[in-house]
Amino acid sequence: MLQAKIENFSETEIACKCCSKINVSDKGLICLQAFRYYLNNKFKKNIRLNIESACRCINHNKEEGGEKLSRHECETKKSDAFDLTSPDIDYKIRKP
Ligand SMILES: [Zn+2]
Repeated sequence: MLQAKIENFSETEIACKCCSKINVSDKGLICLQAFRYYLNNKFKKNIRLNIESACRCINHNKEEGGEKLSRHECETKKSDAFDLTSPDIDYKIRKP
């Protein structure tokens, strides 16, 4: 079996904030890491990404006001949603 290392994110960041449950899809993880590489390449510098929320158990998802079918919810299926912020990017909403 091939081993792939997710370079910029730890289990602690991805696990549920209340119970540390972790059940995340491989595709989600690969997209997360690929997005980070994409940003690094686009801005030609190291762009840090903070995970505000990733895996959530059913209870924690409820507490956060998440939808029942939220892609964060990781008890009944693998989660593939990540709420991200970055201290290295200035956010501006494009004007129409
Ligand atoms: Zn939890």
